[in-house]
Amino acid sequence: MLFLHQEILSNMIEPHLQLFHPFGISKGNGPVYKQLALFIEGLILSHILPPGERLPSERALAALLGLSRTTVTAAYEEVIAMGLTVTHVGKGTFVEPLQQDVTNLVPPPPPWAQPPPVLLDHLLTASTFPLSHEQRLISFAAGMPAPEALPEALDEIIHHIVTSDPAGAFGVTPAAGLPELRKQLALWMMPSTLIRAETREEVVVTTGAQQALDLVARFFLHPGDTVLVERPTALGALQLFKAYGAHVLDSDLVHLVLPPQQQKPRFFYVLPTWQNPSGRCLNYEERLALLRFSARYALPLVEDDPYGPIWFDAPPPPSLWKLASSVPGAIVISLGTVSKILATGLRLGWLRSPQPYATAFAQLKQTADLHTNTLAQWIVLEYLTTQRLEHHLTRIRPLYRERCQAMLKAIERYLPTLSCQVPGGGFYLWCTLKGIKSLDLYFVALQHGVTFLPGPSCYVDEKENEWLRLSFAAHAREDTEEGIRRLARAVANLQAEKARKQA
Ligand code: PMP
Repeated sequence: MLFLHQEILSNMIEPHLQLFHPFGISKGNGPVYKQLALFIEGLILSHILPPGERLPSERALAALLGLSRTTVTAAYEEVIAMGLTVTHVGKGTFVEPLQQDVTNLVPPPPPWAQPPPVLLDHLLTASTFPLSHEQRLISFAAGMPAPEALPEALDEIIHHIVTSDPAGAFGVTPAAGLPELRKQLALWMMPSTLIRAETREEVVVTTGAQQALDLVARFFLHPGDTVLVERPTALGALQLFKAYGAHVLDSDLVHLVLPPQQQKPRFFYVLPTWQNPSGRCLNYEERLALLRFSARYALPLVEDDPYGPIWFDAPPPPSLWKLASSVPGAIVISLGTVSKILATGLRLGWLRSPQPYATAFAQLKQTADLHTNTLAQWIVLEYLTTQRLEHHLTRIRPLYRERCQAMLKAIERYLPTLSCQVPGGGFYLWCTLKGIKSLDLYFVALQHGVTFLPGPSCYVDEKENEWLRLSFAAHAREDTEEGIRRLARAVANLQAEKARKQA
């Protein structure tokens, strides 16, 4: 009890002290002060310790970690030398503040806006983030495609487009996209006879699926509106809905009920196929149940499907979009992208919806960025009309299946206590470690040169849990093995540290 009081008191005086709990020393990873400096660097670069914030006093941190004050002082000096912190005599050590004049230019956020969750994004994208000078970070955090899965002959295709019609390649297109591309996308999503005459009007080409989702959110959500999501769900969508001031409610997909005494949700955001983060794929019956739920409550389903084409052994059941016509009254807005199947940097996605939504989305798209990059549209059109996309998919599916298996094997070998849901496609393993909070592991893993997406980022309001998402897509077998070995060392370290504290 006394200990608890002391801890609460010291947290009041030293507001960021609790962030240092997960720090653990690992043998063979260099001097302790350097390890602590790297840990602080991780906290600062991921904005967990934001600009301008004060670090705990050296005395308090030394007491918490059971280190000498000289060690903590040396670590602080190291971080100052990195240019990440400054010392003010008599006041303490502070994270380097943002340029004053820039801060002054930033208006205060609107009252409904919530700060985004911990800024993981540069850790997500920076798989070569220079965490330490000797050790390249292996990132299992980001859902990045394999560099080896870039489409073949991209250079030839670009050369052909640019030389045969330079004005067309760099000209303006309608806001909803090149008409021929919209038609081909519609055909690709639902081939053959089922296609209706007005189909082309239903597809709006967007700057990635993220923009498609943004247009949906802009159209439907006013601050305070409710939106329903799965539990767990995609981090990017959660951040987006919260940024629009929405009240986000989560639901499991087994017991589909509208929450009582709540405002009716404006839509239900779902990822039926190789879900991000869990890798789960809804079966046929579950899809129909979702569609009946939509019809019963006139609740639009926003189906996000970036991973559908990446299946390993068998294709998934038909998309909600395809099945919608078999459930009268069901409303489906479907989002797609080439980010995972061709190249993320093309920034080409689409949304497909019944009227009158499609026209509204095209109008909103115009206000956002006039139209999607023209060259990217021509490139994707080329892939769709020449069957190159199907050939390419036939090449990359086995690559991702192998990568998934390689990661599962490495886990079995080096970290068998990590239990994972095995997906039939997509990019992710969704795993849990009994007795270990994934956020605690996250910080220790960073010190060991490996990172992942901690589970709480995929939940509406869970501050901690034991889930973590590992993306197997981007790394070749050797890096995957090395990354899992590092993760296993981080787990061992954390467990030893916990045992030491309990003793
Ligand atoms: N939705 C989901 C579920 C995703 O995983 C992603 C990318 N990680 C996106 C949307 C955004 O994709 P894009 O690159 O096409 O904007």
